[in-house]
Amino acid sequence: MKILLVEDEPKVAAFLQKGLSEQTHAVDVAADGVLGLRQALSTPYDLIILDQLLPGLSGLEVCRQVRAHNPAVPILMLTALGETDDKIRGLDAGADDYLVKPFAFQELLARIRALSRRRQDAPVQPQLRLADLTLDPVSKVVTRAGQPVQLTAREFALLHYLLRNQGRVVSRVDILEHVWETSFDTGSNVIDVYINFLRKKIDKGFEPKLIHTLVGMGYVAKVNEV
Ligand code: CA
Repeated sequence: MKILLVEDEPKVAAFLQKGLSEQTHAVDVAADGVLGLRQALSTPYDLIILDQLLPGLSGLEVCRQVRAHNPAVPILMLTALGETDDKIRGLDAGADDYLVKPFAFQELLARIRALSRRRQDAPVQPQLRLADLTLDPVSKVVTRAGQPVQLTAREFALLHYLLRNQGRVVSRVDILEHVWETSFDTGSNVIDVYINFLRKKIDKGFEPKLIHTLVGMGYVAKVNEV
């Protein structure tokens, strides 16, 4: 398997990399959260092993952001904390499993085997559709009327969120929390800007229009009945 290990303690990282390589896994190591996230989003991995306490960006934050872009990749969280709340936070952030440090290497291997079995059994991620718009969450390909549409990662995440909730009005706060992974100042017009980017790419020159604004309420992806 191709594994990304995000771990800032050099000794732990070296030990795990060596041990996993001996099991014929290919292991990339990132030593902080920012590098880990960049690596996770730019390279397809079969598994991400993610330390929780990391410089740059916490493991929880990395986990949330990876999940927003890649619902399928198994994530195993390493935590030194071991408190129930930390485990819950890790699982809520999108981790599939966690392991409390210090752990036995054999247990790590067993959990990796379990995650990879679960992955093989997992149903294929269905394509999302709305009228003649399609979005493939795995290949990240978006098409309108059969033509590919080039989106940035953020535009893709926004469209993915709207399509997952198609027919339902999503508020700016919903979008900030799920697509921007933050709840910063909702007075900012960043969402309107991105909605306009999406409209230009998805709706301009096409009928029916699929992305709609409900003033004072939010946005909805649906086929315009008018
Ligand atoms: Ca750490």
